[in-house]
Amino acid sequence: MNLVLLGPPGGGKGTQAKRLMDKYGLVQLSTGDMLRAAVASGSEVGKKAKAVMDAGQLVTDDIVIGIIQDRLKQPDTKSGVIFDGFPRTVAQAEALDAMLKSMNLTMGHAIEIRVPDEFLIERITGRFTCAKCGAGYHDKYQKPKKDGVCDSCGGTEFTRRADDNAETVKKRLDAYHAQTAPLLPYYEKQGILKVVDGTQDIGKVTADLAAILG
Ligand code: AMP
Repeated sequence: MNLVLLGPPGGGKGTQAKRLMDKYGLVQLSTGDMLRAAVASGSEVGKKAKAVMDAGQLVTDDIVIGIIQDRLKQPDTKSGVIFDGFPRTVAQAEALDAMLKSMNLTMGHAIEIRVPDEFLIERITGRFTCAKCGAGYHDKYQKPKKDGVCDSCGGTEFTRRADDNAETVKKRLDAYHAQTAPLLPYYEKQGILKVVDGTQDIGKVTADLAAILG
């Protein structure tokens, strides 16, 4: 089963993808995570992507399509993929459909995690991650049980994304509405679009997703 999670930045796609991965034995492919790894490694792709990401704009279709094309060649994707943050433009969605078709695969579900803009700035600017294991937290909505200590691994160092500041978030939301929201009618036309209410608590959103996936 392959599925794509759609929705604005900070809407919970990454959080939910991680929960669904374990439950359904799927692989999460996040182009945002892959691009951040490329930036950290100082690769050519990373060098090209960094300034664009810091400005809250979209990296070119060629770059992200290339990244996904390479990643889909790895055998762990055969059991099914959760696409998180890709596709983000209609051109990327068309390229993904063509890739899946050439591999005799299909997209089973496109699920919009719907969250209005007014929720997102606070959600995004409050989030932080354990530097050791990557567990995600939020200043207000998901604090570690013990202040300054990761619940999952006991790590005591945390990081915040460079693009999670209020100014860049506004640009990322603009990019979402202008370039990514047109994917909703794209998948609706294919008859595979479903919507869940992403303003609910994390567990309830997971339950709604699970009800769709069966
Ligand atoms: P994310 O982690 O999904 O919020 O992505 C962080 C940033 O990476 C975005 O603001 C874009 O600059 C870039 N990015 C991630 N995925 C894509 C994509 N599919 N197309 C273009 N840019 C992307």
